[in-house]
Amino acid sequence: MNLHPIIAGNFMLDGGAMFGVVPKSIWQKTNPADENNMVKIAARCLLVEDGDRLTLIDAGMGNKQSDKFFSYYYRWGEETLESSIKKCGFHPDDITDVFLTHLHFDHCGGAVIKVGENSYDTTFKNANYWSNKAHWEWAIKPNKREVASFLKENILPIEESGQLSFLEKNSNDYLTETELGFQVLFVDGHTEKQMIPLINYKGKKIAFAADLVPTAGHIPLPYIPGYDIRPLTSLKEKDMFLNFCNDNNVFLFFEHDASEELGLVHETERGIRLKETFKIIEL
Ligand SMILES: [Zn+2]
Repeated sequence: MNLHPIIAGNFMLDGGAMFGVVPKSIWQKTNPADENNMVKIAARCLLVEDGDRLTLIDAGMGNKQSDKFFSYYYRWGEETLESSIKKCGFHPDDITDVFLTHLHFDHCGGAVIKVGENSYDTTFKNANYWSNKAHWEWAIKPNKREVASFLKENILPIEESGQLSFLEKNSNDYLTETELGFQVLFVDGHTEKQMIPLINYKGKKIAFAADLVPTAGHIPLPYIPGYDIRPLTSLKEKDMFLNFCNDNNVFLFFEHDASEELGLVHETERGIRLKETFKIIEL
């Protein structure tokens, strides 16, 4: 198996929204803000090359909304989803599977392209697109809190293409086995049934932490984004997940950290904290 981090464009988000109830005087030590209170955010996706299977986990925000829409997100850096895939030696048509942790625009937007005024197509025409039924139904009839994150032009064309498949949660175990060659953890704090992949790679375990632990700065328990719809559920889920990572030497893959790819955690007097950071090529 080979793992390729894929930068699908970087952007910025309001630091207060990213860290919820944690005061700026504390979060700015790990995630410094600019004069508009914005912090740097990556859209770091992951390409899993496993035999004949080439699975893309998440797809960044893409580029099909208006200039006005993107002006709120201060995009920076040169990389795009397509340029990063090509840099790894692949073509979008090589992708066999697209696994979407959830359908917020900064995770799935790149998976659908605009091909005309009000007409859309999937970016990866040979791929199965993976979500789950509960999350899909949640996203296509969004509540008023998340309506700005679930954009119908990012979501409905996937179903219309006939490329949509659903994974099903195994209700008895902490992790669900999948046919994709990795396990999945289902969590409900950030949104309904977000999916966190757990990948075995060179004898090590890597969790694609998505919005459960978006940056290395989010490891301390109360550091929960204001975006989360059920913060007390996030707190419980993070506690279990960080203990699981600590007990099993699981590397956290940070989708949104502007500089760090991977981190290992350890137990300290103050709780579980970041121990050391790594790049995938170092494993
Ligand atoms: Zn999200």
